[in-house]
Amino acid sequence: MAAFEGLSNRLQNVFGKLKGKGKVSENDVKEAMREVRLALLEADVNFKVVKDFINKVKEKAIGQEVMKSFTPGMVIIDIVNKELTSLMGETHSKLNKSNKPPTVIMMAGLQGAGKTTTTGKLAKYLQKQNHKPLLIAADIYRPAAIKQLQILGEQIDTPVFSLGDKANPVEIAKQGLQQAKENHNDYVIIDTAGRLHIDEDLMNELKDIKETVKPDEVLLVVDSMTGQDAVNVAESFNQQLELTGVVLTKLDGDTRGGAALSVKAVTGKPIKFAAMGEKIDALEPFYPDRMASRILG
Ligand code: GDP
Repeated sequence: MAAFEGLSNRLQNVFGKLKGKGKVSENDVKEAMREVRLALLEADVNFKVVKDFINKVKEKAIGQEVMKSFTPGMVIIDIVNKELTSLMGETHSKLNKSNKPPTVIMMAGLQGAGKTTTTGKLAKYLQKQNHKPLLIAADIYRPAAIKQLQILGEQIDTPVFSLGDKANPVEIAKQGLQQAKENHNDYVIIDTAGRLHIDEDLMNELKDIKETVKPDEVLLVVDSMTGQDAVNVAESFNQQLELTGVVLTKLDGDTRGGAALSVKAVTGKPIKFAAMGEKIDALEPFYPDRMASRILG
């Protein structure tokens, strides 16, 4: 994956050296960990996350068991693989589902993160599983956001509820939810407003929507190309809105994918989906173990 190419290459290089060795000394492990640390920092993984990660791996790798093994290099790669997996959330975290449909999913995020696009992608994903989502256009500030959602809806044959851009977003969400109940939609996805930066008005509006529709999921859409900033954004949204999960977008981009490796550790909230392209079906459920294996190559 483009976002991890640099990291992947570097890690493969480090472990290639270890794998070639019959015996691995404590110094070899330390040297390798020094290189892994640099590779992670260079990939823009949060420095506290890196520190913690390296300590955990070292603790497990510098042990008698590993040193005595016939293939110490492989054992160490395995330790790193497990720690990477655990860092990204251990197991796949599914979408929450309401016992009393519709399941309400509220999308949040900064402008440009890919919120509207992801709303369409998620609808398509649910549709493929025979669900009947309704999309609610509650981003009344970004010019063309409503139109964009309507076009996406048409493309995948999914209804979009809108009251135009003059109505109150809380009211839009409330009426949209009502319509979903009447039309027996089993999922509702609310596209909310973003801003260029986090501001109080926006947060208050999002809190009001949340309070009104009581969502089963509050998903933060995070642009993984924004690096450390992505992690800070996730932290603030989580503090204010109590997220239930994160969607990482633009993992197809060729910048450093460190956000993917930090966001779960920093917020404690699972990455539920990863988006890897602009097309409507470029959304995948996020599996920490698969991602770790992809990174380690
Ligand atoms: P919003 O302001 O958060 O609603 O952002 P949009 O959904 O309008 O997305 C902003 C831009 O990012 C658009 O040009 C999208 O096509 C693009 N985009 C969204 N997700 C992805 C992705 O996973 N990969 C790539 N390459 N582009 C994406």
